[in-house]
Amino acid sequence: MKIGVLALQGDFAEHLKMLETVGVEGVRVRLPEDLEGINGLIIPGGESTTLGTLGVRYRLLDAIKGKAEEGLPIFGTCAGAILMATTVVDSDQPRLGLLDIVVNRNAYGRQKDSFEAPVMIRPIGPPPITAVFIRAPVIQSVGADVEVLATLDDQPVLVKKGGLLAATFHPELTDDNRVHRFFVDLCQ
Ligand code: GLN
Repeated sequence: MKIGVLALQGDFAEHLKMLETVGVEGVRVRLPEDLEGINGLIIPGGESTTLGTLGVRYRLLDAIKGKAEEGLPIFGTCAGAILMATTVVDSDQPRLGLLDIVVNRNAYGRQKDSFEAPVMIRPIGPPPITAVFIRAPVIQSVGADVEVLATLDDQPVLVKKGGLLAATFHPELTDDNRVHRFFVDLCQ
C-alpha cells in the first residue's frame, strides 16, 4: 500500500508524517509519473491558486483527473478540497473539478481568523476530532450524491463521494490520525 502526497506546495510534509503514524508508505508526487503505482492520493492545504498553476505547468492536473476517472481515491484538505471542487465562487482558477461541491474561499475571514473546533465525524464516531481551520473555505452546497460526513455550524466540513474525500480543515496538523486512517481504509 502506497499513498501519494501532492508535493508542489503547501503542507505535504505533515501529511507524509501522518501516513507514517498510520503505518503506510507515503510518496511525494511532483510529476505525472509519480502517480504510477499509488493506491490513493492526498492533496494538501496551501494556496489553491498556486497549486492549480503549478499543477497545470507540470501537467499534473490532467494526469490526476485521468487517474481519478480510473478510480484512484483522492483526499483533498483545505486548498486540496478547493482543487477538487467543480465550482469555486467568483473564481475560474485551474482545478480538478472532480467533486460536485460549491466552495467559497477564505469564507471564515483572514489568516488571523483561523481557529480550532471540535468536530464529530459520523463514520468515525466519538470523541470528536480537533479540526484546525486556516483561512479555510466554506462548502456552500453539495451535489445530491455527495455524502456529508461532518459539519460545523450546519456547514459541511468533510464530504465524500465514492473514493473522493474533501475536508475544509487540516487533519494532518493534530496528532489524531483517525481521518487519515479512514482515507487509507477507502484506498484498500
Ligand atoms: N486560503 C487558501 C486558498 O484559498 C486555503 C488555505 C489552506 O489550505 N489552509 O487556497
